[in-house]
Amino acid sequence: MTTQLPGTLADRVRGQVLRAGDEGYEEARHVYNAMIDAHPEVVVRCAGTDDVAATVRYAVERGRPLAVRGGGHSVPGFGTADDAVVVDLSLMQSVDVDPEARTATAGGGTTWGRFNDATAASGLATTGGIISTTGLGGLTLGGGIGYLCRGHGLSCDNLLSAEVVTADGSVLRADTDEHADLFWALRGGGGNFGVVTSMTYRLHPVDTIYGGPMFFELADAPAVLAFYREFIQDAPREYGGFPAFQIAPPLPFVPEDRVGDTFLALISCWTGSAAEGERVVDRFRQVAQPVAEHVGEMPYPALNSAFDPLLPPGLQHYWKAAFVTELTDDAIAAHMEHGSRVPVVSSTMHLYPINGAVHDVAPDGTAFGHRDATFAAVIVGAWPDPADDEAHIRWVKDYYAAIAPHSQPGGYVNFLSADDQPKVVENYGANYQRLREVKRAYDPGNAFHLNQNIRP
Ligand SMILES: Cc1cc2nc3c(=O)[nH]c(=O)nc-3n(C[C@H](O)[C@H](O)[C@H](O)COP(=O)(O)OP(=O)(O)OC[C@H]3O[C@@H](n4cnc5c(N)ncnc54)[C@H](O)[C@@H]3O)c2cc1C
Repeated sequence: MTTQLPGTLADRVRGQVLRAGDEGYEEARHVYNAMIDAHPEVVVRCAGTDDVAATVRYAVERGRPLAVRGGGHSVPGFGTADDAVVVDLSLMQSVDVDPEARTATAGGGTTWGRFNDATAASGLATTGGIISTTGLGGLTLGGGIGYLCRGHGLSCDNLLSAEVVTADGSVLRADTDEHADLFWALRGGGGNFGVVTSMTYRLHPVDTIYGGPMFFELADAPAVLAFYREFIQDAPREYGGFPAFQIAPPLPFVPEDRVGDTFLALISCWTGSAAEGERVVDRFRQVAQPVAEHVGEMPYPALNSAFDPLLPPGLQHYWKAAFVTELTDDAIAAHMEHGSRVPVVSSTMHLYPINGAVHDVAPDGTAFGHRDATFAAVIVGAWPDPADDEAHIRWVKDYYAAIAPHSQPGGYVNFLSADDQPKVVENYGANYQRLREVKRAYDPGNAFHLNQNIRP
């Protein structure tokens, strides 16, 4: 039996405590996905690790659902829930870069934009997401796929240590020496094990990159995808680009009469010299001539925020995802059928390559479940009007049903929707049993269950 500590939650924490009726509660109860309309009991904007520990204890003592929110980007809206106690980490944003050691330590609520800007000042970076407002926490704990992963592994492969508040309110350090089992589980196992209040990452020399988008006619898409399939098998690790189905937004490099048309986009990122990058990217121009392109040298954080305007907070979101070993001709045909029908400019399908350095780590080296996959496909449904929910969800589901026979069972936990919970065993494959053991050791009561949940 847990004993309730005296005093209100507001007495126990330094940060903001927001309940229904309080100024700021309305904003604080919402997350990035506008489809989520939950009313938590309380949102605690924690000011530090001590606040996180006090809030976790409060929720566990009272048996309330405990939601953890970093950047708030979870598509299923795991960062909030009806009647929940929300640990909101948005005030815990900090980045301390050690350029000599090539490491950076970030607060648990830090976003990738902030992190990339801080490390770029020293010409350094690590693998992160392609949108600047995504949180380090959720992204890294689920694995972390981005432009740099062929060269430097997943975000979680670059995690050196973490400070974690566990379900009993203890503050632990996890790395390869201390709580090594917890550290293993944190690298891919999502938010199942505790609240990560600080993370230290390995950094790599990445400064100006060569890259950007090229838009190819749909008629050329099968040839470009078939070329990409061969190219990416042994492409230099400096290359980290991906194909996407994309409606052309009204950007200066898009011919006016082609705005609104659907293309196969190739978004390239090359971290070697610009001259080499030009030669590599030019190989795609030999396959088909792009209708529009904006490829050149730019700071790495600029590419990593290029998609921001297409995906502002407040859209409706429904996503599905799959791991792919071989991009067969049949799979390309399925992509052509459904990708060509992408309904709005904010919806898309991205086919991220996850070979290269991601495959250097043993399949059981971290909890991330699919080191054998070559690609992680994500079908992003994102649209403005709730009245259109049914049609857009249908597009995502039909697209997923068409590629599923050409994909592995299970998907990347960070790209899945709430109705994908039954896939949890397949998401982790052979690592699932060990994850359960770690869950039993650190969270036997499943206090951290608002996630793609690993039951103890
Ligand atoms: C627009 C957009 C772009 C994206 N791009 C990429 C991408 O390029 N690559 C990629 O790999 N993924 C990407 N994702 C998916 C992303 O990794 C997940 O949505 C992830 O959960 C977001 O983390 P967050 O902290 O922003 O989310 P939140 O909603 O705040 O957190 C989601 C869950 O993660 C856990 N969590 C978050 N922070 C912590 C913490 N500090 N300690 C413990 N648990 C925590 C909790 O369980 C929480 O409920 C993208 C998502 C969106 C919406």
